[in-house]
Amino acid sequence: MALIAKKIKGTEDILPRDSYKWQFIEKILSDEARVYGFSEIRTPVFEQTKLFQRGVGEGTDVVQKEMYTFETKGGESLTLRPEGTAGAARALLEHGLYNDGLPIKAHYFTTCYRYEKPQAGRQREFHQFGMEVYGANDPISDAELICCAKSIFERLQLFDVRLEINSIGCPECRKNYHAALKEYFAQFTDTLCATCMSRLEKNPMRILDCKSPVCKEIAANAPKITDFLCESCDEHFKKVQQYLTAADIDFTVNPSIVRGLDYYTNTVFEFISDSIGAQSTVCGGGRYNGLIEELGGSALPSLGFAIGLERLLMVLEAEGVEIPKPEYDMLYIAALGDKAQLKAFELVREVRETGLGAQFDIVGRGLKAQMKYANKIGAKFSLVLGDNEIENGKAILKNMENGEQTEVSINDAHIFIENLLSADLASEMN
Ligand code: ATP
Ligand code: MG
Repeated sequence: MALIAKKIKGTEDILPRDSYKWQFIEKILSDEARVYGFSEIRTPVFEQTKLFQRGVGEGTDVVQKEMYTFETKGGESLTLRPEGTAGAARALLEHGLYNDGLPIKAHYFTTCYRYEKPQAGRQREFHQFGMEVYGANDPISDAELICCAKSIFERLQLFDVRLEINSIGCPECRKNYHAALKEYFAQFTDTLCATCMSRLEKNPMRILDCKSPVCKEIAANAPKITDFLCESCDEHFKKVQQYLTAADIDFTVNPSIVRGLDYYTNTVFEFISDSIGAQSTVCGGGRYNGLIEELGGSALPSLGFAIGLERLLMVLEAEGVEIPKPEYDMLYIAALGDKAQLKAFELVREVRETGLGAQFDIVGRGLKAQMKYANKIGAKFSLVLGDNEIENGKAILKNMENGEQTEVSINDAHIFIENLLSADLASEMN
């Protein structure tokens, strides 16, 4: 076969045989969002490039290296969203959602696009579930959000996902911290990678996030942000920890977590799994008090997190969590001959109205092939219609699971449905 096109590097297809796994996690995620009082927001897949430049931050890897940016025929620069928060924040401002009463709590499911080197747990198109809280400044809101992420993992039977937290303070605390970092890293200008060298002047905190082993080793002994927090940021961080302890949530403080996006302030956190290899952060989030102002609104303290769904599925698989395959009761009508096919066409429509699944042959196969197909799709009941059945108005309904056979009337759809439902109930009782 000479295919004329293939999927783009770093993208994945989610096939019919696997989509139930996605539906399973999506259901748990949206149920959990609902009980925490979140409503779904859906924003466009592309936005004006400047939204991400300002929102995510010019100094970040995402903006500098990873965005899919293109010019429209009209000469406007657009970008495929690399993450979900900037679009949600833009929508909040554009629609004045903050007038609906604070806090605004929104969750999203999105595809994200980042030009990164594809590898296990890292794709160029990937999926995120995210939660956003706008208009909450109290440290208890940080704890509540972290609680929500934690309970998502627990609902998914993932008890070994670790929580690490840090505070990266406010722009004021960071002034002193940046100065200390610059002084420290200046000793290693021979050894830092080229990217980190370019970060040294403008955003030395990014060096702490570098994946290169050499930079990582240097960063390990760098000054810690927690020693530079101003009084109110320190107080905020302590309270978050107290609330987490009160909620019985285990965590460790990891001063090297800085997160890859510029909009974070104060609390940052990650949920990490040790069972999926190097790309081990399943969930990343924190507080972003400066974001709304950065995008042109009035100051609105906000926070949120995003879970990478591909990585979440990897953890579920690695931890051996069984995702139940949904079973739908299905009737398959095998029909031979024009009259029988027409009858099957009529009956399946009636059956579907009751909410039961029903299918028949739409590709013109012989009886044997039709029954083979019925087996393949896991039909619970089968009914064979031929000239005889049409003539007698009766056919044999077979329970494919236990082999039980019942003669049913096919002339009157209502009677047929009654027969089918009672056979269904009877088989459930067995
Ligand atoms: P990483 O350090 O792994 O690059 P990040 O800091 O860039 O992550 P965020 O922008 O915070 O990640 O995104 C939140 C989550 O989205 C991550 O924790 C991860 O689960 C997922 N994620 C991020 N980038 C990718 C990617 N390229 N492919 C698959 N999942 C991703
Ligand atoms: Mg990244």
